[in-house]
Amino acid sequence: MQTHDGWLVRVTPDPTGLNPGQSAFLADYAARHGNARITLTLRGNLQLRGLDHQAALDFTSHAVARGLGMEVPQQEARRRILFASPLAGLDPDCAEDTLALAHEITQAMRDLPPLWHPPEKFSLAVDGGGLVPSGALRGDLALRHEAGKWVLYEGALRHQPDRAELVDEVLAALQRSAHRAVADRALHRAAPFGGTIPPLLGPFLPGCFGAVAVLGEISAQTLASIASAGAAIRLTPWRGLVLDRPVAAHDLITDPQDRRADLVACPGAGRCAQAHAPTQRDALSLVTELRGRRLHVSGCAKGCASHGIHDVTLVAGPKGYDLVWQGSVSDQPAESGLDIEDVRRRLRRA
Ligand code: SF4
Repeated sequence: MQTHDGWLVRVTPDPTGLNPGQSAFLADYAARHGNARITLTLRGNLQLRGLDHQAALDFTSHAVARGLGMEVPQQEARRRILFASPLAGLDPDCAEDTLALAHEITQAMRDLPPLWHPPEKFSLAVDGGGLVPSGALRGDLALRHEAGKWVLYEGALRHQPDRAELVDEVLAALQRSAHRAVADRALHRAAPFGGTIPPLLGPFLPGCFGAVAVLGEISAQTLASIASAGAAIRLTPWRGLVLDRPVAAHDLITDPQDRRADLVACPGAGRCAQAHAPTQRDALSLVTELRGRRLHVSGCAKGCASHGIHDVTLVAGPKGYDLVWQGSVSDQPAESGLDIEDVRRRLRRA
């Protein structure tokens, strides 16, 4: 995909995550061919940006050779819709067949009719519950493990097929979903998740060390350090990493007191043609003024990084920032046309 700062490639690791060799490859590719930054997405994907066209074209074959994705684009598009509990196989309270079920569905999707293609941004969650409670993974289709059984959710619709019929039911639901308009997608009709997702920072289970990427990005150097420490990685759908051993880096948050975890920002000026401000730099510059408040800085009204409610939302425009208290990018601002020093003064006063 072409972006303002060059070509972007996306990697969707298998639910078992990245091994050190795969991490080393991605770190090296990002450093040699990209902008040496790696973005973690809210779908548990990784993105390398700033590539030239040839490096983006060559990426797939190199990645596939290392077990990252499939050569045939149609099969890869199907594989990418599925994501699973990030602690499957690590958390004893997560359903023990979560990874096996994810694998069965991935295999079965290969046999869907040749012309079947997933709708844009479609997702299928295999949510085995446990420490990260069932329901925390949001997908157009969601398999949730509830009271010892798998339940299939299509938005508000709930089916409880036998385990032996589960994969066939998922495939049938996938084919029904392909004909729905985006606005009618099941994800938008699903009941909101009312539980709590634990922070997963630092050591939290035997052999599990959690970290969150500052502003959802890590450097190629950090990924290379993780690889050279021999650490395996699971990616969470919250821009986090779960490592099998501790690895320290300046752009990994492992301390619950680190207030950089309160920041959300899109790539901003220099990396997106629509951006009116250097969102990430501005967000980091305000961290000491937040005092526990969550801040979202958006480079324009589109709000790519979040449509959710934050304590403070800044939306950049041609005349400066709009400031929204306790709202989202689409809410009416309390003030407009502020520069970053104006915002800093408002945060100190409030
Ligand atoms: S929110 Fe606007 S500025 Fe930020 S990445 Fe999206 S389109 Fe670009």
